[in-house]
Order: sequence, then C-alpha cells, then structure tokens
Amino acid sequence: MIKQIKKKKKWLSPTGIESSKRCQRCFWLRYNKKLYQPEGIVSRLANRFDTILKKYFDLYRPLGELPPMIEGMVEGKLLHPFQETYFYHHDEDYGYMGKLDETLISDKKKYTPLDFKTSSSDPNTKPLIPAYQSQMDSYAFLLEKNNRPTTGLGHLLFFFPSEAKDLHNRFPMQITLKTIKTNPQSAYNEFLGAIKILEEKIPDSSANCPFCNWRVEIAKHTT
Ligand code: SF4
Repeated sequence: MIKQIKKKKKWLSPTGIESSKRCQRCFWLRYNKKLYQPEGIVSRLANRFDTILKKYFDLYRPLGELPPMIEGMVEGKLLHPFQETYFYHHDEDYGYMGKLDETLISDKKKYTPLDFKTSSSDPNTKPLIPAYQSQMDSYAFLLEKNNRPTTGLGHLLFFFPSEAKDLHNRFPMQITLKTIKTNPQSAYNEFLGAIKILEEKIPDSSANCPFCNWRVEIAKHTT
C-alpha cells in the first residue's frame, strides 16, 4: 500500500508576512525550510512591558471597566473573557494566525484591536511606521474571519519613557494613544501574496541585506 505523505499546514503570522517585505528569500526559507535568520542580541524589555500591561488590563476586565490609563480615550469595554489567539483556515496547506494584545467591544458588538507599543522616541514626533498599519489590518482581518465584526479602527497604545528629576522615586512614562483605520482586505491580499511567494521557487536575496552581502564578500576573499 502506498503511504500518502500529507503536507504539513503552514500557519503564517503578521510578523512572518511583514518579513517577506524585507526579503522574500528569507521568508521563503523560514516557512519552506524552517531556516531562520539568526536573531543576534535583542532586548526582551518590550515583552516585560507587555506582560505587566496585560496583568494590569486583566484587573479591570471582570469589572467591566476600562483601565484609567485609557478611560475617556477609547470607546467600548475590554473583551471578557479575553481571546488572545485567532486562526483563519485558508485551505489544507495554509492558515493565518495572530495574537492580539487586547480587544475592545462596543455596545453594538463591534470589535477593535489594541496593541501595546514601547517606544524609544516620542510617538507624537514621527509618523507611524507602515508595519503598524499592516499589523492592525491583520488583526481586523482575523477578528472578522472569526465572526467578530470590527469597528474599522485599531488602537496603538505607546509607552515612551519620560524625563524626571525624581527618577529615584518613580520612572514616568508618556502614554500616547494613536487610532488608525483598518483595512482587513489589505491584510488578506498580503496573505495571498505571501502564499504565492512560498509556492514558487526560492526568490533572490534582497539587494541591500547586510547578512547576504557579508557572506558574498567573505566568499570572494576566501575562495
Ligand atoms: S538577503 Fe539573505 S540573509 Fe538577508 S534577509 Fe535575505 S536571505 Fe536573509
């Protein structure tokens, strides 16, 4: 009897799809061969912020109240119970999954994703990076696909360390809320584009990536 080898389903994520915009080759290698670019030395400080903020928001969730830090700035209340991970089953080979930091639900039962962002510069002094737009589009897409109609908005809650003369007493943070319009169709189009990359032969390296260029230069001088 011939054994059927079932292709393992690939679960794309907003972060993974975002990486395809930097280099399709690395994206292809990541999902098709499980070869990841080495991470190097990265700060995990943002993860710690996320953990603390989630615990803080969880205190208010069962009370049906908004945390004071966002009260009056957003509409709706915190989704209770909270659902962090959402899936969209595209076909047998591909799916889309994403994890939301927080979700608000309005009186009309419409959903708004919210994401925590730590920032090393004042978010009021620079435009939002396009990756944030794609991320919120993805969350709106996942909510919609899970029968959770969205408000068409997404919130980004920034935490930027402020200066103070009494840092020995407290470490103040500037909290800034940015609200953007979401476009789930755009996320879906990007998802389809990402699948197309994975279904074709391995793409070329990105022309300006320092890693591949470094490898080429090394080969030139050692062969
Ligand atoms: S150029 Fe090379 S190392 Fe750089 S991201 Fe692409 S495949 Fe990875």
